[in-house]
Amino acid sequence: MARTDVIVLGAGIVGTSVAVHLVKRGLSVALVDRGGAGEGTSYGNAGIIEGNTIFPAAFPSDWATLLRIALKRSPIANYHLTFLPKVAPWLVAFRAASQPARLVETAHLMRPLFARAVSEHDALSAEAAAERYLRRTGWLKLYRTEAAFAGLSRELELAASLGIANVPLDRDAARALEPSLAPVFRHAVHWTGAVSVSNPLALTRAYAGRFAALGGLSFAGDARTLHRVHPHWRVETACGPLDGGDVVIALGPWLPDVIEPLGIKLPLAVKRGYHRHFRAQGNAALARPVLDAENGYCLAPMEQGIRLTTGAEFAARDAPPTPVQFDRLLPAARQLFSLGEAVEAQPFGGKTWLGARPCFPDSRPVIGRAPSQAGLWLACGHAHWGLTLGPATGRLLAEMMTGATPYCDPAPYAAERFIQ
Ligand SMILES: Cc1cc2nc3c(=O)[nH]c(=O)nc-3n(C[C@H](O)[C@H](O)[C@H](O)COP(=O)(O)OP(=O)(O)OC[C@H]3O[C@@H](n4cnc5c(N)ncnc54)[C@H](O)[C@@H]3O)c2cc1C
Repeated sequence: MARTDVIVLGAGIVGTSVAVHLVKRGLSVALVDRGGAGEGTSYGNAGIIEGNTIFPAAFPSDWATLLRIALKRSPIANYHLTFLPKVAPWLVAFRAASQPARLVETAHLMRPLFARAVSEHDALSAEAAAERYLRRTGWLKLYRTEAAFAGLSRELELAASLGIANVPLDRDAARALEPSLAPVFRHAVHWTGAVSVSNPLALTRAYAGRFAALGGLSFAGDARTLHRVHPHWRVETACGPLDGGDVVIALGPWLPDVIEPLGIKLPLAVKRGYHRHFRAQGNAALARPVLDAENGYCLAPMEQGIRLTTGAEFAARDAPPTPVQFDRLLPAARQLFSLGEAVEAQPFGGKTWLGARPCFPDSRPVIGRAPSQAGLWLACGHAHWGLTLGPATGRLLAEMMTGATPYCDPAPYAAERFIQ
């Protein structure tokens, strides 16, 4: 039987980053996953490290958008009708957190994490010799209508007050940056400080490589076997039982599988999302990720091709894939950029990849102690920004666990906010 100071459950970008930060502080650390590092949700994202994030994705405030979603005509969101009663309480809480004043509050509470996002990736990628995956080109958000662009004014004002760099562009200026975009939009905003990743899987694997180089050990195992063997925590692994003094649960959308049997219930829901890779036609190319704001999809240049990612789908995490949003958004995507044939081979999930963004209704992650269980820590619920916030989360949690002064007040991310 092996024994370690800390067991980290989940080798996504969040768990791997936590593990690196802990081992760097002199602890013996074991990283446990049932698969390889970065092969879960962290594999299929749009690759944007968006430290510029201000407002979280919000519940739609206008009836026209809601009606289109309800009628299953919107590319922005899809839902499984039979799942709605189950997710209804979460949606009610999400809607409440989407009121304008609450969005501003969230922007301020999340700022310390986002402000560290790029610098923490810079530090980790340098140590892991993974800088080649990071592109310092920012990202572009496109707006097809005047109304959509006008709706940005509050966000841009807040960005100015927080000193977050962005450059509003007209169509021609945006096309000077990305000449392959067709002139089907009117406005763009270039968020210049964002960094994009050409291969999110390779980046997480590189961070896992850094963890190993620092003496961290990785095990194959099922996190659901976690139980107490006083005074330790124990997990069964392919190499036998593994005991740890502390455990970090960084299981992304699989968090409930482990905490609920321990009597901890947190309001985590998933916003499922899909991607497909395409070749570009002819000489068409993109230097940076591009969001078509009104259609809710992203075109992200990756080593595998152009990755087309969808918005949210409200469905049970493990329900069979229903990638209907592609039918709704592909005409707009093809109008904007010359997508060629779909690239068939994907390592995880065939032609269409399905992932699940782990989301709390207030769009804040949980980082810190688990309620009512000594030695149990949580790093989860990073929603649309897990890639962005993995290393910043790793540093914060490692500082908390080792008694160092945390670089920001962790109170806004405490699980207790959900405990009555
Ligand atoms: C379409 C899409 C686009 C996105 N785009 C972006 C973006 O551009 N920028 C950004 O910052 N974020 C983006 N995200 C969000 C981001 O991908 C996630 O927030 C992030 O990957 C979550 O990381 P994680 O480490 O918490 O979870 P995961 O990467 O899912 O890691 C959890 C790990 O737990 C393991 N696990 C689960 N159950 C068990 C078990 N029983 N036993 C052992 N191991 C287990 C899994 O194998 C997995 O490796 C996007 C998400 C989607 C779906």
